[in-house]
Amino acid sequence: MKINEIFKSIQGETSYAGLPCIFIRITGCNLRCSYCDTTYAYEEGTEMPIGSILERVAGFNIKLVCVTGGEPLSDKDTPSLIEELLGKNYTVLVETNGSYDIRMIPQGAIKIMDIKC
Ligand code: SF4
Repeated sequence: MKINEIFKSIQGETSYAGLPCIFIRITGCNLRCSYCDTTYAYEEGTEMPIGSILERVAGFNIKLVCVTGGEPLSDKDTPSLIEELLGKNYTVLVETNGSYDIRMIPQGAIKIMDIKC
């Protein structure tokens, strides 16, 4: 998968706001919103196998993970990554722009639809 960045921060949105969280920002987005603040995630990133992503995440010792982008559902491997995270007992938040069918998100993940008009 092409990953733009993986980092630790405080979740600033949703009912999980205020909690330490690991962010996995997946490269690529199918939209081009005029107000986008993550244009750097359109193309930039490093190819990483899912196993390496899981290793990086494990190093933070935090059980809350936010899968974001870009648009995370634009990568066909994102559902597999989410499945692996859930299998390791992470609480997984998935932030999506509402343009993809969210039925591809594995059961158990928390779906956050930030719908772009
Ligand atoms: S959907 Fe999000 S990442 Fe994509 S262009 Fe719009 S604001 Fe940027």
